[in-house]
Amino acid sequence: MNRFLAIGIRLMNRLRYPQKFALITCLFAVPLALLFYLWLVQIAARIDFTRQELAGLQYIGALRQLLEPLQRTQALGVLAAADRPASSAALAQERERIATGAEAVDRADRQLGGQLRTDASWSSLRARVADNGAPPEPFVGETLRLIAQVGDSSNLILDPELDSYYLMDAVVLRLPALSEQLRAFGVATLAPASGPRDPVLDGQAIAARTRAAAERAALQRGHAVAFRANPALRATLEAPLAASAAAVDSFMRLTGDAVAPDAPPPHFGPTSDAFQHYAAAAGAVFGHFDAAAPALDDLLAARVRRLTHYRALLIGLVICTLAVVAYLWVSFYAAVRQAVQALDDVSHRMRAGDFTGPLALESRDELSQVVESFNRVAAQLRLEWARAQDESARARAAEAAAEAATRAKSEFLAVMSHEIRTPMSGILGMTHLLLSTRLDKEQRRQAEIVRDSGESLLAVLNDILDFSKMEAGRLELMAADFDLSTLVDNVASLLGPRAHEKDLYLETALADDVPRALSGDDGRLRQVLLNLVGNAIKFTDRGGVCVEVSRLGSENGRTGLRFAVVDTGIGIAPEAQERLFQEFTQVDLSATRRFSGTGLGLAIVKRIVTAMGGRVGVASAPGQGSTFWFEVALRPAMRAITPRSPRPLVAVRPLRILVAEDNVVNQQVARGLLKMHGHQVEIVSDGRAAVEAVRTGTWDVVLMDAHMPIMDGCTATGEIRRLPGERGHVPIIAMSASVTREDTAAFLAAGMNGYLPKPIDPPALAEALAKLSGAGTSDAASLAPAGEPTDEVVDEAHVHLLFDALGAAKISQLVEGIEAETAPHRARLAAACTSGDLAAALAAAHAVKGVAASLGMTALAELSDGIESAAARGDAQRYATLLPALEPALAEAVARLRTLCAGMR
Ligand code: ADP
Repeated sequence: MNRFLAIGIRLMNRLRYPQKFALITCLFAVPLALLFYLWLVQIAARIDFTRQELAGLQYIGALRQLLEPLQRTQALGVLAAADRPASSAALAQERERIATGAEAVDRADRQLGGQLRTDASWSSLRARVADNGAPPEPFVGETLRLIAQVGDSSNLILDPELDSYYLMDAVVLRLPALSEQLRAFGVATLAPASGPRDPVLDGQAIAARTRAAAERAALQRGHAVAFRANPALRATLEAPLAASAAAVDSFMRLTGDAVAPDAPPPHFGPTSDAFQHYAAAAGAVFGHFDAAAPALDDLLAARVRRLTHYRALLIGLVICTLAVVAYLWVSFYAAVRQAVQALDDVSHRMRAGDFTGPLALESRDELSQVVESFNRVAAQLRLEWARAQDESARARAAEAAAEAATRAKSEFLAVMSHEIRTPMSGILGMTHLLLSTRLDKEQRRQAEIVRDSGESLLAVLNDILDFSKMEAGRLELMAADFDLSTLVDNVASLLGPRAHEKDLYLETALADDVPRALSGDDGRLRQVLLNLVGNAIKFTDRGGVCVEVSRLGSENGRTGLRFAVVDTGIGIAPEAQERLFQEFTQVDLSATRRFSGTGLGLAIVKRIVTAMGGRVGVASAPGQGSTFWFEVALRPAMRAITPRSPRPLVAVRPLRILVAEDNVVNQQVARGLLKMHGHQVEIVSDGRAAVEAVRTGTWDVVLMDAHMPIMDGCTATGEIRRLPGERGHVPIIAMSASVTREDTAAFLAAGMNGYLPKPIDPPALAEALAKLSGAGTSDAASLAPAGEPTDEVVDEAHVHLLFDALGAAKISQLVEGIEAETAPHRARLAAACTSGDLAAALAAAHAVKGVAASLGMTALAELSDGIESAAARGDAQRYATLLPALEPALAEAVARLRTLCAGMR
């Protein structure tokens, strides 16, 4: 079945509903329209046919008015021939009737001659009929022929209907024929009887009588059939039929009933009696005609009316049917569209998340089935949607809770960091102060342990705080111009001491094609390198660490750089490498592990590098060392950057410093650190007191703790800035354990000039004081710019700061290790002098310069810088001149530092 319908289904599936309707309607309507058309054409043809008959009947009616007087005239002519005066008067009267009849025919011919094609015949007859003297005999025959012709041309004699056929037969054929036979019989019997009997006349009379009898009988039969077919005719025609039959019979009986039909009729002679008999019979026949013709006319007219009615009915039916079909089609289409539209609307609503109520459709057809299925699906979806809403509400709530928890965690960490850093400042500050006093060996060792533990704790704290900030999505990268070689050197200088402690070398190697002047977040880059290099030193026991930077290529104005920290340490097993960059992950989790750590360093590294759009990885094998690498693309610096020569450490002239700090330990640390540098220090414990002190006293700098009772640092700064005159412009440095981006922005917005994180880093404090007090440049003893000769072997101020920051023990340890630390570099420098490979000497000179500068060995740093410049220029002569001074300069600097260290203990 389905296969049978496949073509139809395929066709229907391709069409839209209006097209389907149009197709089906056409397939139905075209043959039906054809059928209806043919039907209507047939009805119209029948109407025309009948109308033609009516026209013919009308014409024949006019001809009948001519025929009767013509026939009577002929009969009267016989009388006139017998010289019967009465007949002459009657003849004249008949002639008048002929003229009247002719006029009637004239009218009919004018109206219908063309249609019935009688105009030619009639006009020829008409011309002669008008002639009064002409004998009427030929006209009678012609009139009869004309009647027969009209019978033909008007279709009357072709009429197939039974009821009208016999009436037509009577009107067109029988009654005119009967009247003619009566006339012939009359004329034959009225002939003058004086002469011998004319056998021709006798014959004519016999023939006429016989035919008349036959016509009469035929009329009787025909009428009987017509009455049966249409009983209503009986009322109008029965009497005229009987009258005409009786009149004919009585006329015929004049010739004697007994006489055999073929016996010669008697001669009456031209008597008026005989004529009267003829006239009566003929009159009855024409009376019959006058009754039959209207009856026929009525029949035909009724038929035309019936057909017209029928046709109107048919057209009406077709129009009604078409209208009803069209109406139903349109309604059907509207119903389908309504249903589809409703489905569409509901599905739109559902897409927008509105699942209210099922779709209601008043229909019992197949569409209702579709709607029911749709409603079932919609109900299911409603359930799912409600469930999804619930779940997403729960998820949102959970997310909000998680966000709140993260916020709370961050806030907690900020508070904790503040709370932990504050005592840590105390511990570290006091330890620095303690270490700067005279201690015996054991006491110094214990104090150094306290300091080192504090610094480790601070590092761990920093890691946790940093990572929690990143986790809360608060890792924001800054963009500033920086010098890459300075950055790398700085990392090496900072971690060099740790490497030396373990007897490791720490080298840096920047490829020549690596651009130095770059733009990016150098602080974060430094943090990544510090982490990787710190790890490398931590997990290496022999050999050393090398930081290599190479160029990868350029794209979109950025230069790709690959940083690799290569160590010769313990290495990492492949299975451990996979989880290295996950937070809190350490390779060795055993209780007996040798290395401490939080397991956050590499996770932080990965987050920073990823935030920079780069990638990070490791190549390592157990016992083979590790290479931690990362790749980032950086833009070139906006402005030219001059690589900073070894950091000019600043000493500051004695200043009047107001310290606003509520924590007693911190107060003492600050006092100790500042007094150590000869500053006058006044301490206040809250912001209100700070404002008061500034209003009444004279200060070079105010160190303002951010969090204090009574009035916090920012509010106090605002108040101070509103003080009149110079006092309102006193430089203020914020001190805070929390130095997030928002905090520092708040400090600066409050009118502070800078900020220092707690615990206070002595060199940073010195630098900040120098910058803000304007003292660093004029009065301060600072290192002379690189390249200029200097007599100073060691920058004592810098060394003092180092003592403060690192402690004398650490410094003397570094001093003792410096010769070994620089030995490989010095060996390479000496080798280059003999081999002439100055390029190889470049890195070695740079390494010596970095170490010397970090320990404040000014002369050695200067000399190494000169050697490095000569090597870079390829100036072998200058190189050879400077190199011999290197060893004495080193020895002198070490000796000077030893003395200083001894002085410090
Ligand atoms: P941690 O604070 O423990 O050092 P990291 O995230 O920096 O945390 O390092 C995670 C772990 O990765 C370390 O505990 C160590 O096991 C391993 N690791 C990192 N760097 C090296 C390296 N250079 N050599 C060997 N192992 C390393």
